[in-house]
Amino acid sequence: MKVIRKVKEMQEVSDRLRREGKKIGFVPTMGYLHEGHLSLMRKAKESCNSIVVSIFVNPTQFGPGEDFERYPRDEEGDRAKLEAEGVDFLFIPEREEMYLPGYQTHVEVGEVSKGLCGDFRPGHFRGVATVVTKLFNIVKPHLAVFGEKDYQQLLVIKRMVKDLNLDIEIILGILIREEDGIAMSSRNAYLSPENREKGLMLSRSLVKGRISFESGERRASVLCKTVKDSLESVAGISVQYVEVRDAETLEKIEAVDRPAVIALAAIVGGVRLIDNIIVGR
Ligand code: AMP
Repeated sequence: MKVIRKVKEMQEVSDRLRREGKKIGFVPTMGYLHEGHLSLMRKAKESCNSIVVSIFVNPTQFGPGEDFERYPRDEEGDRAKLEAEGVDFLFIPEREEMYLPGYQTHVEVGEVSKGLCGDFRPGHFRGVATVVTKLFNIVKPHLAVFGEKDYQQLLVIKRMVKDLNLDIEIILGILIREEDGIAMSSRNAYLSPENREKGLMLSRSLVKGRISFESGERRASVLCKTVKDSLESVAGISVQYVEVRDAETLEKIEAVDRPAVIALAAIVGGVRLIDNIIVGR
């Protein structure tokens, strides 16, 4: 695996790969890799013969007081995992080169960026859309894979690619969980054993919602209440939102008469966790 740190070199490598007729599959990440990330690379490999992974903890998608500074980093461990996965190129750009002095251009996606995480992390999706656009212009992939773990992000990227006529196929990777059900996340590393136990309630509460749906409940408000009550039954979990939305558009719905996502965010021991489950798909 070749490690590339300079924008120009990455662009030149991608140009060469394209000339050689390679199909470039791309997985952008912030590193501290786990099985959830690796599953996206395997997905890219199903249809691409050159895989590029980026690791960049993007400062512009973190708000003031968020965890940018302490976000977990392990370049050596990540490299070993990517080598083992058969990734061809690892792109680790420098912050200074990604955001040159005088930087002033941003990509803002409309409605789909609002609500849910958009309400609790102002500017987050603008930072994401901007950095992903930049990475797309540097890596020049044919295809990029995004995880359903960050469901709203996935739809923001899909919308952006469509609206801006970016010639890139966006593929989704299913949400990968630990054996006990907790959604894999780099941020789980922040959790004390006690808080990790509480963190388990996120997936357990979503399962309660799904069971209610499978038993015939279709009212979004009732499904939300089931999930929220379950979460709030445990001290030390502060719920930011629980919502049922159209799985395709993220529009609010009153009844689940089409595929829907039950999405939530909660703070557990000072750590912000998100999770979701799709029903009716
Ligand atoms: P991150 O490093 O958190 O920015 O995530 C990079 C990519 O990995 C994003 O497309 C995420 O949605 C995806 N991802 C993170 N965790 C998981 C997971 N547990 N299952 C599937 N995809 C994930």
